[in-house]
Parts: sequence; C-alpha cells; structure tokens
Amino acid sequence: MKIKIVTRKKLLIYMGYISLSFFLTTVLNIIHTLYFLKIEITVATFIIPTLTGLLFGLLLAHIRSLSSQLKQLAFTDSLTKIYNRLHFAHFLDIEIDKAKRYPTTFSIIFFDIDHFKSVNDNFGHAAGDKVLEQITDIVSQANRSADIFARYGGEEFIILAPETGLSGALIHAERLRNDIEKFEFDTVGHITSSFGVTEFNAAKDTVESLFERVDKALYMAKENGRNRVEKA
Ligand code: GH3
Ligand code: MG
Ligand code: MG
Repeated sequence: MKIKIVTRKKLLIYMGYISLSFFLTTVLNIIHTLYFLKIEITVATFIIPTLTGLLFGLLLAHIRSLSSQLKQLAFTDSLTKIYNRLHFAHFLDIEIDKAKRYPTTFSIIFFDIDHFKSVNDNFGHAAGDKVLEQITDIVSQANRSADIFARYGGEEFIILAPETGLSGALIHAERLRNDIEKFEFDTVGHITSSFGVTEFNAAKDTVESLFERVDKALYMAKENGRNRVEKA
C-alpha cells in the first residue's frame, strides 16, 4: 500500500520534471525563433531544441531519483527499513531542544531481543533476519505515528516517544513486550525481549546521560530475568 503511494508520487515528480522542461523549451524556442532570429519555425528549429529539452528533463528527473535513493540509504536500515541510529540521533537532538525550551517531555524505550545469538545458532542467520523484520512490523503497528522508531544496533531497537512521560512509556513498553512474546515468528516460534525505559529530564539530561540511564534500565531487565520492562 505504502510502496504504491511512494511509487505514484515518484512517477508524478518524474513526469512533472519532463513536462515542465518540455513546455519551457518549446515556449523559449518559439519566442527565440520568431522574435530574436526573426525566422519561420521549421522542423529543425523546433524539434531539435525540444528534444534536447526533453532529454534535459529526463536527466534532471533521474538525478532527483538517485538523490532520494541516496537519502534513503543514509537514513534507514537496509534490513528493516526503519530509521538507523544516525537518523535517530538527529530526531533526538530536535526533541531535546524542544523539551529544554518548552514545557514538554519525551521518553525513550530501548529494547533488545533475548538470547538472539541462539536463534541464529539454532535456526540460521536468515531466520534471525526474518525475526528482526517481523519484530519491526509488530512494533511499528503498535507505535503512535509520532513515535520515532529506529534500529540501534544488531538486535537492539530504540523508540523516542514524544509528549510521553515515564508512566505512559512504561505502559507502551509493556504492551510491546507482550505483543512480541505472544507472536509466533516464522521458523523460530516464540521469542522474548527486554526493555529499558526512561524519561528525559530537561533540567539535567544530556544525550549521554539519557542513553546511560536507558542502557542501565535495559541491563537491569536482562539481569532480573529478561522478558521484562525496567525503568531508570
Ligand atoms: P541477551 O539475551 O543477553 O541479549 O543475549 P543475546 O544472545 O541476544 O545477545 P548477544 O549480544 O550475545 O547476541 C546478539 C546476536 O545478534 C549476535 C549476532 O550474531 C546477532 N545479530 C546482530 N545483528 C544481526 C543481524 O542483522 N541479523 C541476524 N540474523 N543476527 C544478528
Ligand atoms: Mg544486544
Ligand atoms: Mg539480545
């Protein structure tokens, strides 16, 4: 569904570039031929510049499509198609600025699949990759549209929940933990994951202190038996 919309939008932009280039070249060519050169319009004086205009339009459209593909590669994770760590950091900076300036807050949910190494060892790397994709779908469906969801590392994911305090983020993390636990993954069956949750403190926090805290919460969730949510 989403792919179709994106493709249609790309096609419209592509056609737009070509039509605009064709239109402008044709108009300029007519003006140039009639008013500056003061000669009659012939096939050669009309077709050749128009074809050149069309080619130029195609080239522009192609460059634009390549640049959007590059952007996609730089900002998203190739396996799961969600944001990568780098792009997450960009959103986090914006949210920190907002929270320091305005009376708003946000929370971070950091989670890691339990015993994922044994999933790979027992079922193979391809099955492990499928789990990562399916987890992404489960979490994307449960998240709010404003939530920023990224793959932080191998089997570690992170969510920035804007306008959400600690209690709201804990409820959300618990729901995600439960959704993952109940899901029957292809080949692998059931797996679990552990969660760390923390709320940004506008008076004291930096990116580093925020990550340190949420990492500690995740570590506690692992230490306390896995398949659980801990706050810090
Ligand atoms: P814990 O419950 O303590 O988190 O144990 P774990 O086995 O999940 O943790 P560990 O960090 O030891 O293992 C993570 C594994 O994730 C090891 C690595 O092979 C796997 N992994 C990382 N990235 C990918 C990936 O892109 N695809 C697959 N299939 N596996 C990956
Ligand atoms: Mg890990
Ligand atoms: Mg793990």
